[in-house]
Amino acid sequence: MYGLQTEAAFDSAHFLTDYYGKCENLHGHRWRVVVDLAQPELQTEGTMKDMVLDFGVFKKAVRAEADLLDHTFLVEEGSLKPETIACLESEGFSLTVLPFRTTAENLARYLFDRLTDQGLPIAQVEVDETPNNRAFYRA
Ligand SMILES: [Zn+2]
Repeated sequence: MYGLQTEAAFDSAHFLTDYYGKCENLHGHRWRVVVDLAQPELQTEGTMKDMVLDFGVFKKAVRAEADLLDHTFLVEEGSLKPETIACLESEGFSLTVLPFRTTAENLARYLFDRLTDQGLPIAQVEVDETPNNRAFYRA
């Protein structure tokens, strides 16, 4: 099996619903994302001959996903009152409403699915919430 790995990062705020501890309050992280590709064989022709994939293509796809989340408030759908969402938006804050609890595990799965949907042979996505704590999703 051949593989490639790249990483990106984004800064975002979130809070965890139904959590009893510090993470129930709004706080931020520098989320680090490490993505692994895996493919049993290298490409056999063209500019990507003897590569899994062009690093440029891979890095661009991962960075684009990180950029969509960067400097936004990650909100679990239904976790804030509609009027709260409207107030935040009227103040000019940028929200990313996601259909899941905004844990590192779920963000890893979310990024895994979005990158896989682009046709990339994703093997694993790791999301670091802090320098010491990380979650990953792999197929
Ligand atoms: Zn957190």
